[in-house]
Amino acid sequence: MAHPARVKSKAFNGIPHLPFQEFTAASLESLLSLLKKARIKDSEIEVSTSEESQHTACSVPLVHVLVMTAKGDGDTSYRDLAALYQYCPVCRQAVRVL
Ligand SMILES: [Zn+2]
Repeated sequence: MAHPARVKSKAFNGIPHLPFQEFTAASLESLLSLLKKARIKDSEIEVSTSEESQHTACSVPLVHVLVMTAKGDGDTSYRDLAALYQYCPVCRQAVRVL
């Protein structure tokens, strides 16, 4: 049976937000626990801050939350950025940017 090719989207591997979705998070910890509870397959969550990107609303540096997923095993494994969030700790505003 020939079905039209349905591309498996990376967006549906358990990440609880759509790209460019904005939402409020009471704290960075609550955003992180939300992502951990989503049990995104083989994921690791990394947090970094960058002085280069500031929240336009308040000029506070945004916290970047990276959801990395491991692919393959052993020597051939590599990590893939599955999702990227930016979080403003002052406005308590989070947005998924990737
Ligand atoms: Zn802000």
